[in-house]
Amino acid sequence: MSVLQTPIDYLKGVGPNRADLLKKELGIFTYQDLINLFPNRYLDKTKYYKVNQLQRNAAEVQLVGKIINLKMVEQKRGKRLVATFQDETGSLELVWFRGQKWIKDSIKLNVPYVIFGKCNWYNGFSMPHPELELLSEHKASIRSAMQAIYPSTEKLSTKGISNKSKIKLLQTLFIETKGRFQETLSTDILRDLNLLSKSEALFNIHFPKSSELLAKAQFRLKFEELFYIQLQLIIKNITRKHKIKGYPFDQVGELFNNFYKNYIPFELTNAQKRVIKEIRNDLGSNAQMNRLLQGDVGSGKTIVALMSVLLAIDNDFQACLMAPTEILATQHYNGILELVKDLNINVKLLTGSVKAAQRKLIHKELEDGTLHLLIGTHAILEDKVQFKNLGLAIIDEQHRFGVEQRSKLWKKNSFPPHILVMTATPIPRTLAMSLYGDLDISVIDELPPGRKTIKTVHRYDSNRLKVFAFMRDEIKKGRQVYVVYPLIKESEQLDYKDLIDGFESISRDFPKPEYQISIVHGQMKPADKEYEMQRFVKGETQIMVATTVIEVGVNVPNASVMIIESAERFGLSQLHQLRGRVGRGAEQSFCILMTSFKLSSDAKTRLETMVRTNDGFELAEVDLKLRGPGDLMGTQQSGILNLKIADIVKDNDILKLARS
Ligand code: ADP
Ligand code: MG
Repeated sequence: MSVLQTPIDYLKGVGPNRADLLKKELGIFTYQDLINLFPNRYLDKTKYYKVNQLQRNAAEVQLVGKIINLKMVEQKRGKRLVATFQDETGSLELVWFRGQKWIKDSIKLNVPYVIFGKCNWYNGFSMPHPELELLSEHKASIRSAMQAIYPSTEKLSTKGISNKSKIKLLQTLFIETKGRFQETLSTDILRDLNLLSKSEALFNIHFPKSSELLAKAQFRLKFEELFYIQLQLIIKNITRKHKIKGYPFDQVGELFNNFYKNYIPFELTNAQKRVIKEIRNDLGSNAQMNRLLQGDVGSGKTIVALMSVLLAIDNDFQACLMAPTEILATQHYNGILELVKDLNINVKLLTGSVKAAQRKLIHKELEDGTLHLLIGTHAILEDKVQFKNLGLAIIDEQHRFGVEQRSKLWKKNSFPPHILVMTATPIPRTLAMSLYGDLDISVIDELPPGRKTIKTVHRYDSNRLKVFAFMRDEIKKGRQVYVVYPLIKESEQLDYKDLIDGFESISRDFPKPEYQISIVHGQMKPADKEYEMQRFVKGETQIMVATTVIEVGVNVPNASVMIIESAERFGLSQLHQLRGRVGRGAEQSFCILMTSFKLSSDAKTRLETMVRTNDGFELAEVDLKLRGPGDLMGTQQSGILNLKIADIVKDNDILKLARS
């Protein structure tokens, strides 16, 4: 057993109480865990401040001086110990709210101390709970140029496990282990990339001898961390390809060719052609396809999905296409039915609101193989839904489905069907590599020709009348308008009220019969939703007031204005998704982001980014920087959140290096 597996309880200086705290608060159970407690940041301990150099709101500072007096001050709630600390330039107060007695007894007056801590300013500087060390002892101890600051918790600091204690524990650990740790990267890699050895890196991450060595230590440890994650993902992917036999679709048959030659209503973009080729290669091989198709809203993923489906049917397999909402599934169904109406294939729709008789028919046709393509919602995942020979499963808008759901699809045939996951939420490529490293990735990075960029503006609520006037102009030109309200789970009731209030105010300003307004929200029955949607799709209503249910998929080319209410409450990717509902026709489209004056700085950045760019990938990068990967859907699945030292955003280059 490696010494690093030693329980933390055995480390000198760790009693049962401390062991307990370290376990509970920091998840430190072994020597290994302690050594992997990486500092958040470092303080330059070569620098000493003078009292007259102190600044308000500065970080921690280190000073040398003497304590010239000490007094206990009675307060309403408990006591406070106050000391006057002085150097040749001035003085400040040191304050303790806890452990006063012990401190009072141990402090020596009028001898030089090194003090360290963060200053507050209130009619002069004071430093609560400073770290204290006699200058004589300070000089004698071994120390590094930079001092590590470790993650801590409220509880740890109140229970006396200070930063200093952590440093002490690590020093003990290094002494006990002689600072020798087993190398975990190959000599080739170490040599080629000129990396520090594991032992050197660990020493310098905790006790940097210089800023150069610290940088090298960080690089080595980040590289190692990312390297092993990538290695795992790649191994997983390769194993899958070897182990999981696919259903080879070796013929490009009648349906595919016929459709390609005669029925595609437009010329495919180069990106679409490339992606179809990538998919065809996968499907034709002996391995199971597991592919993520990324493409911005409106980039034309549906046609790619459909052509993959035709390949499956050509090879006597069934296919299914699953969408996250009933509206979207229905729209896919109608759109695809229209595209394939002259081909002899059987397509059916399965959602929660399909009647029992139709459901029965679908089950029967799926089992006897006469149903070629099933389009639907989660309903497809139910155990009752059994296929005769499912060869391809497509999931649209992946971020709404979890991994378990993907794996349910895997089980719909004796060995897993080919899987194509489509998402319109672009994920920066490097992140995608880590999140979906077990998937192959295709990207449609080109929009169909002739699309006009959507003009995006930010308007304050106080400008509402002007916005209404603009809506009127556009409607006069024959266009249609979306007005979207946020719907956030925690405040559903409030949001619902906002929506209804908004609807009423719009109804007043856009009276019948001149104007017709649709309303769609989550609390409506699916049939009512569908009815209202259809009125808008058919152009019977000019305004669609809705919550984010319309976020995905909905396709009304004549709609050219998207007004997003309380836009500050939406995330970037959601704003971008919503904006993607317009700009689908030949007309100039607009997106108006409405907010109050009160905006957080993150909200401002989001709005500015939306106004500046239409590029989904650029937005995704900004989003990732604002939120960090933790908030991105799906990150929980990948262990990416548990990174100890690397940062998926900042350490992009190291990630690429590790991957290669
Ligand atoms: P998304 O990727 O958002 O799912 P869709 O597949 O819904 O995009 O396509 C958006 C619109 O663009 C549809 O109306 C579709 O018919 C059209 N479209 C797709 N590909 C092309 C193309 N190559 N040329 C012209 N229009 C296209
Ligand atoms: Mg789509």
